[in-house]
Amino acid sequence: MKILIVEDEMELSKSLEESLIKEQFIVEVAFDFATASEKIFLYEYDCILLDIGLPDGSGLEILKQLKKAGKAGNIIIISAKDSLDDKLAGLNLGADDYLTKPFHIAELNARIKAVLRRKKLDGKQHLQYGNLRLDLEERKAYVDQKHLPLNRKEFDILNYFLFNKTRLVTKTALAEHVWGDNIDQADNFDFIYYQMKNIRKKLRKAKADIEIEAVYGVGYRIVES
Ligand code: CA
Repeated sequence: MKILIVEDEMELSKSLEESLIKEQFIVEVAFDFATASEKIFLYEYDCILLDIGLPDGSGLEILKQLKKAGKAGNIIIISAKDSLDDKLAGLNLGADDYLTKPFHIAELNARIKAVLRRKKLDGKQHLQYGNLRLDLEERKAYVDQKHLPLNRKEFDILNYFLFNKTRLVTKTALAEHVWGDNIDQADNFDFIYYQMKNIRKKLRKAKADIEIEAVYGVGYRIVES
């Protein structure tokens, strides 16, 4: 799960970033309007924490851009202003939730999880495909009822595939989602090849009835075998 923090207060941004990384999220940050605009144009996020008052523009404008691009989902506004106008404008523009600063990090975590569940899982806490089940709350995988040990990246990869069942997942999309935005500047994606090799081996050994097939030169697709 990848989260973008748009917040110009460095200290707050830093502490949000640290606590969300502890929650096992991939975290990206933008300190100003220009960077945030560029990032939302270039990349996809599962959730965006959006400050309204930015030095070079308004978070509400970012919300408008997201709406125009059809990406206005999973947005939580974080604003210092306890302004009803901001709140209403934000929610009207498609934001999912609103938190007034200062807020407790536990509260933010709960809201993020609720937003992600609502949007992507229709309230469910696990993903299932064939006999593979991912428990998103515990971050554990099971084949039939048997626990399948995965490292953090392996879990994130399977999680992404299960959100994109039967769809072709490009190496770039997978890399950005599991390793973060700047991965598109990597020289090559060999590291993905090795991760996939391990995952496929684990799935086979555990007798999963799904497999990840390679689509030559493009990426991968998860299918029932
Ligand atoms: Ca601000």
